[in-house]
Amino acid sequence: MARYTGPVCRLCRRERVKLYLKGERCYSLKCPVSEQVTDRHARAYPPGEHGRDRMRQGSEYLGQLREKQKARRIYGLLEKQFRNLYDEANHKPGITGTNLLQFLELRLDNVSYRAGWGASRSQARQFVRHGHVQVNGKRVTIPSYRVREGDVVTLKSSTRENFHVRRNLDTLDRSVPAWLESAEGGFQMAVRSIPLREQIDEPVHEQLIVELYSK
Ligand code: SF4
Repeated sequence: MARYTGPVCRLCRRERVKLYLKGERCYSLKCPVSEQVTDRHARAYPPGEHGRDRMRQGSEYLGQLREKQKARRIYGLLEKQFRNLYDEANHKPGITGTNLLQFLELRLDNVSYRAGWGASRSQARQFVRHGHVQVNGKRVTIPSYRVREGDVVTLKSSTRENFHVRRNLDTLDRSVPAWLESAEGGFQMAVRSIPLREQIDEPVHEQLIVELYSK
């Protein structure tokens, strides 16, 4: 499946918020949108020739569009995939925006990221793609695979000593969300429940996405 392969820090600069797309660098002062960056050369403004001009307040539509782009970029989806997921969320009973975020959270690459195995969702996606992740004891190589309540997601035993995995678990101070239950020293995650809205900590106002797609 296609994915964005361009520079990722500019995506954060465009949304003017940390999207944590680059792994270790996101937790350091090298991050160009880090609040602690005081360097006058830090580029905490939108990218492009007219980046600084875009600091101004936009229209209602622009706010909705940016919110959708932000969510899409956080989870690493292209427009078509995101739109399809929205349509599915819209047809499911319940609150569309919450359904959408739950679908995004339940992706296998996201679960691998939440488990702390990948420093970023793209690295977690690579682990899945390369067959390092199992669901209920079976290898699954589809990053968009949607886990269900009761599923057990495991990192393959031969991968547990992988340098990147070890470093991510040891150095990035990320906690496992309450809807996942960690076992086997953090190398196994059981899906305890479908995540509640308040358990999804991404800075996304999903109602604005619903308004955008409902036009
Ligand atoms: Fe780059 Fe990560 Fe900072 Fe985003 S959060 S700007 S990806 S370093």
